[in-house]
Amino acid sequence: MTYDPNNIFARILRGEIPCNKVYEDDFTLAFHDISPQAPVHILVIPKGQYTSLDDFAANASEPEAAALLRACAKVAEIAGVTGTGWRLLGNVGADGGQEVPHLHFHVFGGRHLGRMVAKPS
Ligand code: AMP
Repeated sequence: MTYDPNNIFARILRGEIPCNKVYEDDFTLAFHDISPQAPVHILVIPKGQYTSLDDFAANASEPEAAALLRACAKVAEIAGVTGTGWRLLGNVGADGGQEVPHLHFHVFGGRHLGRMVAKPS
């Protein structure tokens, strides 16, 4: 998939759309999800242009990869859920339910999160 430079997270990275920032470093930005599904719901994204985790795993540098993973745990710590537990979720592609075509991880916490994957209805 070709990277769409006008996707919503690309626009946030360029400062064209505001976000509620939680954390930032040279390679990574984290901000509150606009439609939170749990008391803590934060998105962690690489600053580089990667459509998905498939793309990132194939093409990102080691420093970018390390920074993204470390940022997820850092965000959980900032949100105060390190002790109580939290969930890291990455949706990839159509069956994964990925809506925004810029790699992002969801950090959820602040309540018991239930089943890992919803049962089919
Ligand atoms: P996904 O379904 O994994 O692609 O998740 C996309 C997430 O981005 C959803 O949870 C949306 O609520 C969230 N989202 C969409 N637009 C914004 C925005 N402008 N600021 C923060 N979160 C957003």
